[in-house]
Amino acid sequence: MKIAIIGGGAAGVFLALRLKEEHPAFRITIFEKNNALLKKLLVTGNGRCNYANIGPTLNKYHNDDFANRLLKEFTPQDIIKTFDRLGIHPQRVGHLIYPISNSAASVVSLLKNHLDRLDIEILLQQPLLDYFKDGERYVVVTDKGKYDGFNAIVFATGGSCYPQLGTDGSIFQILQKHHYEITPLSPSLSPIKVKENTKKISGQRVKCLVSLLYKGEVIYQESGEVLFKNDGLSGIVILNMSQKINMLPHKGRVKIMLNLAPNHHVSNHNEYLEYVTPKLAEYLINNRLDINRLVYTFKGFYSPHIAEVSHGGLSLEEVSDSLQSKKEKGIYFCGEILDVDGMCGGFNLMFAFASAEKVKRALSGK
Ligand SMILES: Cc1cc2nc3c(=O)[nH]c(=O)nc-3n(C[C@H](O)[C@H](O)[C@H](O)COP(=O)(O)OP(=O)(O)OC[C@H]3O[C@@H](n4cnc5c(N)ncnc54)[C@H](O)[C@@H]3O)c2cc1C
Repeated sequence: MKIAIIGGGAAGVFLALRLKEEHPAFRITIFEKNNALLKKLLVTGNGRCNYANIGPTLNKYHNDDFANRLLKEFTPQDIIKTFDRLGIHPQRVGHLIYPISNSAASVVSLLKNHLDRLDIEILLQQPLLDYFKDGERYVVVTDKGKYDGFNAIVFATGGSCYPQLGTDGSIFQILQKHHYEITPLSPSLSPIKVKENTKKISGQRVKCLVSLLYKGEVIYQESGEVLFKNDGLSGIVILNMSQKINMLPHKGRVKIMLNLAPNHHVSNHNEYLEYVTPKLAEYLINNRLDINRLVYTFKGFYSPHIAEVSHGGLSLEEVSDSLQSKKEKGIYFCGEILDVDGMCGGFNLMFAFASAEKVKRALSGK
């Protein structure tokens, strides 16, 4: 069996290792556009690589049923055990799982050592430009030439955010040429631009309760630190809000409400300083804003260059349960290329690994 994996990111590398460990006779080639594998994994979790989450996985994803089906078959515990066997030992921070080394660079080095050990062919700086069928086998076309004889091609090329690390979304144009449906792409886990002026408090951080309002109703709440930017809001809790906003059809009806003094009803402006910095207190007082109900109007997301994942991608209608293309036998998809995106906390890497595992089982005839 000869398999081409397009994309040497989290999903592609995990798939290659899992396949080759189980089937040493398989010939596997990873085609990667960058000059190194796993460039994005290096920057995950602020360089610490939050690779799993042992909390509930329900309601953490866009296309939640699809993601949770895969995570039932290859659970967070399975992911942690598999990594442990590869020398990546877990440490818990609440529900979040990081490597004991606290270092994404160590994770990347360990995974690369395993690729070497298993003798997996790696072709760097070889972006896939196209593919076609020659008899029963596939031919991969890169800017360096044509590579033939593949029984299967697996697309693990990620989404359309963070283009500086290889994921510029150009793969979706190639797939559209092959008549695949791509659901509209937008930045997710992104800071949020708001209509109100936040310039005066840019750089201020505050711990607060954040509510997402849609058509006047609170539809999601989370506590955490918010960072005010020149023209918007950031922080993990805001990135999670962006993931929820992406799923709402009428974005003009979205507002974000901050309660800067949760559990306290503060009606006297003199008390503001007990809860926030002098700069924030001054901003609230000068603009006659309520510390318990600071409301911002959603204007848009920031550039895809700073969003952690993309919303949208290959329509799930295009794949069977085994993640094989419904229209082209032998073509598979895993990871962020699929129209699934999760919240912060390890959910996106878990989906990359669980979907790669699903493809491994399909290619193993299981
Ligand atoms: C700053 C940042 C922090 C993050 N932190 C976390 C975290 O802590 N926990 C978490 O769960 N998730 C995190 N994520 C999200 C997570 O990294 C991604 O969801 C995950 O890497 C997706 O895996 P993937 O293999 O599908 O895609 P990627 O890891 O993006 O890999 C895709 C690979 O395909 C290559 N490629 C693209 N097109 C082609 C082509 N035409 N030919 C050949 N190769 C191609 C790319 O160069 C890339 O190497 C973070 C993302 C960012 C940007």
